[in-house]
Amino acid sequence: MLAIVNAYIVKPDHIIPDGVILCRGKKIVYAGPKKPLPENCEIIDAKGNFAGPGLIDIHTHAAGSYWYYNEPEKAARITLAHGTTSVYPTLYYDLDQKQYIESAALNRKVSKKGAGRVIRGLYMEGPYLNPKFGANQSGNVWKGPIKKEEYMPIIEAAADFAQFWSVAPERPGVKGFVSDVRRANPNIVFTVAHSEAAPSDIEELIPLGLKIGTHHTNATGDRPKYPEVRGVCVDETVNSRDEIYAEIISDSKGIHVDPYMQRLILKIKGKDKIILISDACVFDGPVPGEGYEGVTDINFDWDGQIAGSKLTLDVACRNFMMHTGSSICDVFRFASLNPARAMGDLSRGHISEGADADMIIVDGFMKVKKVILQGELQKI
Ligand SMILES: [Zn+2]
Repeated sequence: MLAIVNAYIVKPDHIIPDGVILCRGKKIVYAGPKKPLPENCEIIDAKGNFAGPGLIDIHTHAAGSYWYYNEPEKAARITLAHGTTSVYPTLYYDLDQKQYIESAALNRKVSKKGAGRVIRGLYMEGPYLNPKFGANQSGNVWKGPIKKEEYMPIIEAAADFAQFWSVAPERPGVKGFVSDVRRANPNIVFTVAHSEAAPSDIEELIPLGLKIGTHHTNATGDRPKYPEVRGVCVDETVNSRDEIYAEIISDSKGIHVDPYMQRLILKIKGKDKIILISDACVFDGPVPGEGYEGVTDINFDWDGQIAGSKLTLDVACRNFMMHTGSSICDVFRFASLNPARAMGDLSRGHISEGADADMIIVDGFMKVKKVILQGELQKI
């Protein structure tokens, strides 16, 4: 049995001071006020820090200097050391068919042991997005018509392991693709990404499992009917529809999403529908000059475009606290409970009896002190 003592236990809407958490095997068996410990416990002293659920990063392409698509084991070690105990490596539209298939197989293999166990599935950010938006556009090999014979091998290789699949609803033929993905995995969560679809085209996919607005307000278009008037497009649909979760990339300078916009989205979507993501990449293009001075956690591609971040999710939580005044309970909700709920998974994302023993101990500003994965204290 593993016991965490002397912790402020972070619940979704309150804190238990001087709490004790007991784990048996991979499950939490007690989380509550201090009480006498069973004999022969392995004791972890939280030293008055906060104990919250392990973070869940549903959307990241990389960690540190490693891409998940080709070096998932090395990436996973960095992800785990930063307190993320569930990650969904994100495969981008710059992979071709063969690379998608190989990368799905590699990630599946790595997910079975060691730090690789943080890999719980895939987030397929492609192939059928709107080629007008996003980084590394020159690497997009999926600009032509949607063809069943091209996508079926990818679905066969990845659909049972994938948890999230992004589409641009305006692409002709996307509905046939969505149906084929659903046939292979009825639990898949679709996201609207890199898109300038009309609200009606997005809303048509909600009954088919569309639940997430990918990096909300980034790589989305506008549809003005009159030049002087703002149109309604992806951002408005994500803001308007309560069923849809909004992913946010919260970098330290508020460049992906202005701090004012982060507060506005929080106000509109409410605490149950925000998901923080890192969307880390390793394009490593040079930082363009003006306006980007001192930027440390943004990634640029070789065309000088913003191309995801250099964030880990613990840092994204800290940034979101800074930009929005959110509490530690709130950021654990946005980076753990809400992503689990978006997948319909009630066993993760919270510290309670019966939940998975994936936990982290952090200080008051989300600096990670200890990581427990599947009931085992990790060396970080
Ligand atoms: Zn993207």
